[in-house]
Amino acid sequence: MSAVRVSAGGDSRRVLLAHGDGGLLTSMLVEEVFLEHLGGQAREGLLDAAVLSAGSDGRRLALTTDSFVVKPIVFPGGDIGSLAVHGTVNDLAAVGARPLALTAGFILEEGLAMDTLIDVVRSMAAAAAAAGVSVVAGDTKVVESGAADQLFINTTGLGLVLGEADLSFARVVPGDRVLVTGTMGDHGVAVLSRRKGLAFETGILSDSAPLFELVEGVVRGVPELKFMRDPTRGGLATTLKEIALSSRRDIVIEEDAIPVTRGVRGACELLGLDPLYLANEGKMILVVGDGGAAKALELLRRHPLGRAAVVIGEVRACTGSGELWLRTPLGGTKRLDRLAGEQLPRIC
Ligand code: MG
Repeated sequence: MSAVRVSAGGDSRRVLLAHGDGGLLTSMLVEEVFLEHLGGQAREGLLDAAVLSAGSDGRRLALTTDSFVVKPIVFPGGDIGSLAVHGTVNDLAAVGARPLALTAGFILEEGLAMDTLIDVVRSMAAAAAAAGVSVVAGDTKVVESGAADQLFINTTGLGLVLGEADLSFARVVPGDRVLVTGTMGDHGVAVLSRRKGLAFETGILSDSAPLFELVEGVVRGVPELKFMRDPTRGGLATTLKEIALSSRRDIVIEEDAIPVTRGVRGACELLGLDPLYLANEGKMILVVGDGGAAKALELLRRHPLGRAAVVIGEVRACTGSGELWLRTPLGGTKRLDRLAGEQLPRIC
């Protein structure tokens, strides 16, 4: 086994909670353990779903897998069942794919209340129906009390990539606009507000939602669409930094332009969190060539989930290895990096 270089100050030979936060340590774990041994030729520039050619007629399939360990399993605006569906179909949507089918593997802790399980499965079924997809295969395992925390779900999603989709890091060039489809940080705050020992009332709901319909019009109608990714774990800043690194471009975003609700802003001030690093489960980042940005915005805003869509920045020529810059309202510029730390374990 290869050595894992970064340890966040802890034991470099053990897995830390921070290896699961979607930030810097997660990337290192993926690169130095999983891609090292399982990745074949895939080394960098990974998309949210693998895109596979399916036969000679040019059709492409998208395949993705995800595990859900959110704590608590029910939170304002959703639960682990609906989240599992949304998280999976959104990784398909990010490569321009309509979801075709899901699988679901359940790891259950001995002693879990049957009614709790039924509620989660019902919620999953409703979310799948709303996303226009079925759960077509599944698996169940039960482990002893204490060997899991109530219930974990692993999903795989299969999708059909729209013929018009031409999304890659290679197409991202200076002058492209960076769009987000709505407010940042809602999911992270909603889950944290129900954490044991932290419970507080905010009225903030998770944004957990399926995004294919929201982005379908842009994929079909805006050929200048270059790239998409949903800013889940690690939040907007981590995701944009990944895009900057993989496309070898700089990205500059305007702090003023980034939509954050007053409630999320207030909760972040209270908890010492940065909304740019909080998870979202119903938002997409789009990189669109300058000429297509206005049309993309118009199409997004027509959909209920895209009413607050906005341009937050642009792509610039690379000044290093792919930097992310935040321009503050007072005219300062800060360099942002991926999330590094273990502040928000088990957020999805
Ligand atoms: Mg994703």
